[in-house]
Amino acid sequence: MARRKRDLVAFAMLRSLPGSRVQLWVVEACPLCGRSHFHPAGGRDDDPRERLGSVKAPCEPDVTYELTQAPRPRKEDRRAKRRQERRDGRRGGREDDEW
Ligand SMILES: [Zn+2]
Repeated sequence: MARRKRDLVAFAMLRSLPGSRVQLWVVEACPLCGRSHFHPAGGRDDDPRERLGSVKAPCEPDVTYELTQAPRPRKEDRRAKRRQERRDGRRGGREDDEW
């Protein structure tokens, strides 16, 4: 089976090691092996996003995958925000002033 290397996307979450200045990109589910991997993301003064992009997969040294920042699961926040916006809209659209 031929692997399409360029389509491999590894979603990573930024973690910082407590008590240190080291940041890590944590891939929770590797697209190759399904396990988690860690990639150095630099120190606190570095921009961790500069470390994103094509990196070698730790489990398969001949393969690179695209290290990408994982979208945060914020469904509840989004819902709450929408509710708030609706509330604000109602407040703004009151007809009290007209009567
Ligand atoms: Zn892997």
